[in-house]
Amino acid sequence: MTDVLGIHHVTAIAGDPRENLAFYTGLLGMRLVKRSVNQDDPGTYHLFYADAEGNPGTDLTFFPWPHLPAGRLGTGLTGEVMLAVPKGAVRYWAERLAAAGVHSGPLEERFGERALLVTDPHGMAIALVETEAERRFSPWEASPVPADKQVRGIHGVRLWEESLGPSRKLLEDVFGFSLQASVGEWHRFVPTGGSSGGVVDVREAGGVGRGVMGRGSVHHVAFRVPDDAAHGRARARVLAAGHRPTPVIDRFWFKSVYFSEPGGVLFELATDGPGFAVDEDPAHLGEHLVLPPWLESDRERIEAMLPSLDG
Ligand code: ZN
Repeated sequence: MTDVLGIHHVTAIAGDPRENLAFYTGLLGMRLVKRSVNQDDPGTYHLFYADAEGNPGTDLTFFPWPHLPAGRLGTGLTGEVMLAVPKGAVRYWAERLAAAGVHSGPLEERFGERALLVTDPHGMAIALVETEAERRFSPWEASPVPADKQVRGIHGVRLWEESLGPSRKLLEDVFGFSLQASVGEWHRFVPTGGSSGGVVDVREAGGVGRGVMGRGSVHHVAFRVPDDAAHGRARARVLAAGHRPTPVIDRFWFKSVYFSEPGGVLFELATDGPGFAVDEDPAHLGEHLVLPPWLESDRERIEAMLPSLDG
């Protein structure tokens, strides 16, 4: 059962899209690889930050919904997104964040990895985690961050669950992940041959209360499958395990299936291809508003609804 390779992308809810863009490209130095709209709510942007090529597993995406109340962390939510940085880079990052007036927390040691904690402008918890693990990564030449310090992509996510058992069963029996280690209330799961990009830490946090999704919350965590055939097999296993996956939805840059994991976190299964270069010149990703073909006829109305990202 190696169909689920790790994390494909994480999607979260931001406030003002310009502040979101400035933080993730200007400060964290990621590349805006796709400027699109929420396909279920086309008056809202969908902004994708990744490495230079938008390799699967590098991608953190946002729906900016400034009018939404702030989320409240609790069980059934993703409490933090871990971004991979090269070994030895956290000192650079602590200084870079401080110079920009962004507070970062004390360094934490977790499962043998050093993590620098920071909160984005809209309240989302991020950890910059040092790792040497090999992964697909293309440095972004125009980044304000030097290539040897750049964010490598998603390292993992930290989920808060009322109880470990049901989520563990899904991760192990359906996804084929294994429990790597447990420290206190935290349990680390990794895919077969686990590496950076596939870490799922689960906090068994019974009694802290149910989380409420809002601004600054992670909306869903998408897991990678290599192709359509693997997507079908993984969906069938999710269904057979008693969960309720959606039909396959064509997101144009990849195909998606969504379902709620037993603790309430929204999961997605997404195919590695065809990728972000399918409709844009790789040298100019993210520079213009891209719509999937079925929304193209509505472009004028959609553009009029969206706030400007420039200036
Ligand atoms: Zn998604």
